[in-house]
Amino acid sequence: MPVAVPVPEASATKLRFDSVLIANRGEIAARIQAACRALDLKTVCVCSEADRDAAYGKTADSFLCIGPSSATKSYLNKDALLLAARLTGAGAIHPGYGFLSENAAFAEAVEKAGLVFIGPDARSIAIMGDKISAKRAMIAAGVPCVPGPDTALPDDPSAVAQIALEIGYPVIIKATAGGGGRGMRVVAQAEQLHDAIALTREEARQAFGSAELYMEKFLRHPRHIEIQVLCDSHGNAVWLGHRDCSMQRRHQKVVEEAPAPGIAEAIIAPVGEACVKACQQIGYRGVGTFEFLYEDGAFYFIEMNTRLQVEHPVTEMTSGLDIVQEQIRAAQGVALAITQADVSCNGHSFECRINAEDPESFLSSAGVITGLNLPQGHGIRVDTHIHAGYKVSPYYDSLIAKVIVHAPTRAQAMETMRRALGDTRIDGISTNIAFLQALFQDEAFAKGETDIHYLEQWLKLRSKP
Ligand code: ADP
Repeated sequence: MPVAVPVPEASATKLRFDSVLIANRGEIAARIQAACRALDLKTVCVCSEADRDAAYGKTADSFLCIGPSSATKSYLNKDALLLAARLTGAGAIHPGYGFLSENAAFAEAVEKAGLVFIGPDARSIAIMGDKISAKRAMIAAGVPCVPGPDTALPDDPSAVAQIALEIGYPVIIKATAGGGGRGMRVVAQAEQLHDAIALTREEARQAFGSAELYMEKFLRHPRHIEIQVLCDSHGNAVWLGHRDCSMQRRHQKVVEEAPAPGIAEAIIAPVGEACVKACQQIGYRGVGTFEFLYEDGAFYFIEMNTRLQVEHPVTEMTSGLDIVQEQIRAAQGVALAITQADVSCNGHSFECRINAEDPESFLSSAGVITGLNLPQGHGIRVDTHIHAGYKVSPYYDSLIAKVIVHAPTRAQAMETMRRALGDTRIDGISTNIAFLQALFQDEAFAKGETDIHYLEQWLKLRSKP
């Protein structure tokens, strides 16, 4: 457990705000509100018309409807959010995850309005939002990257073919402005290269407004391993261990765990230290996650998320730190109260994302929750905003709860998760609980170290008669 150390002098800085507007919804709005209350900060919650009955709204100091159900007109409406902050006198805005959390223009508008954006500054978000500039920043800090140039692909087809040859097939073409698993294409052999480039360029132009592409080696059987960092605005930064998020369906994480199984501390520690160095070099503030592909004992940086992540609780369980409170304190200008030597991760944690969706077709399922039983007991935590009578809206992401467990060993944590899932009952809508239960019975998953393709292959096998 981290030891409380004397608070450094820099933390005597006058706190920059005493109330926070939470520019988000659902479980993360409830989670951020809990952290604000623990820090004695007033909270302003906002909602769309579909979320008027949100329980976290009732416990907020102010609760405002900022627009219609469509997210583009409410949770993504920058002007409405800034107006809500002005009307309620909020001093800071917490963007949560998704929506405007990685929007550099919003971070800038918040600061220009004289408010604090609870996250890194717009410059850091912009550097990491462009995959080539992110790669350059990582190389400069000594963070290992996927083989391939840190420059955009030229227009000349023969120069592009030469780059692919140097990297070696298969390669992956990616949009520099891409995100959400879109704007990338794998090319297995030289004959497919030309068409693949043309298609990806056009997709990138339409989806991201930029046709710029780059190329890197396509790794065949990687695991998704990520490193959580925490930085203050005084140049201090720590990394809080690692997570494995390889259980993915369509690039969406389904189950996350900390620590990543089977990875020796001696292999990952230099990578964690390089992440810390990268944060210090770009002047990063707040929490962030460095995502890596891990194959044959080597790490390859793919991207940095400059925000709080859905899976932050597994790191909270192992590190004993409240990551959301730490993030808010960093935005207050308070210096980190811990150094790397104080960080110690214990036991094992899993998180299951409970989605309102059909367990077979994965189509999202809206409707009223008619009955609810959430698991409880030692080592079990549930992050959620739902309750009996809650209406699951079709407008947003299908995530309705996160079941998180913590136990001394991975095997014990799996057992606790099996029990927790068995005790979870959500009536009135379809959920993926049965699917998660089946996954927690799987032998290869129980052994650990499965790659990012495992879940899709497992689903294919299951669907065969
Ligand atoms: P996005 O920003 O769209 O999420 P990422 O660069 O994080 O894009 O990649 C998303 C996913 O695509 C990764 O989690 C991984 O499954 C796959 N991927 C990306 N780059 C590679 C690569 N070089 N080799 C193999 N798979 C990759």
